[in-house]
Amino acid sequence: MNFEALLEQSVQIHGHLCPGQVLGVKMSMLGLKEAGIEDPKGKDRKKIIVFVEMDRCATDAVQSITGCSLGHRTMKFMDYGKMAATFLNLETNRAVRVVAREDSREKAKALFPDIEDKYKAQLEAYKIMADEELFDIMEVSLQLKPEDRPGRPMTRVKCDMCGEYVQDMREIERDGKTLCRPCAGEGYYKVVHNS
Ligand SMILES: [Zn+2]
Ligand SMILES: [Zn+2]
Repeated sequence: MNFEALLEQSVQIHGHLCPGQVLGVKMSMLGLKEAGIEDPKGKDRKKIIVFVEMDRCATDAVQSITGCSLGHRTMKFMDYGKMAATFLNLETNRAVRVVAREDSREKAKALFPDIEDKYKAQLEAYKIMADEELFDIMEVSLQLKPEDRPGRPMTRVKCDMCGEYVQDMREIERDGKTLCRPCAGEGYYKVVHNS
């Protein structure tokens, strides 16, 4: 599919057209091509894992173009706050990281000096800018752990403290006890009332 068709698809899923959709669609097309993935939603769908480094508009575009998602364990969210994603081909183990170039923002402004709204200028500019202007690209190596792969859960154990179950080796062993991460002090919440 061409860029326009993919962008339209992505906008439908995301809910609006924004610079992030344009960037995310182009980032995905480039990453897939460089990783050697032709048909991410068809014949190649079991070959691909994407690591996204941002939870922003562009992340939705990456999801709609690659078909990768958290629920399928094919999208990994790395909370780095960077406009970047790595595309891993599981068959060849080739991994390509694509990073949005910082100077593309300035170039966008220069391309459309008459558009006052900088997001509108970015939106229009990103559509016509070349991949080399928009992104840096690097070959990377990474190891996908067996417990992070798609497929059935590898393990399932009970937390000795709260009694909740933990899958895929996310438990922590401490002083002879098996703990979930919250009980080991790594929780994002505190229980206020347990009914
Ligand atoms: Zn958006
Ligand atoms: Zn627990």
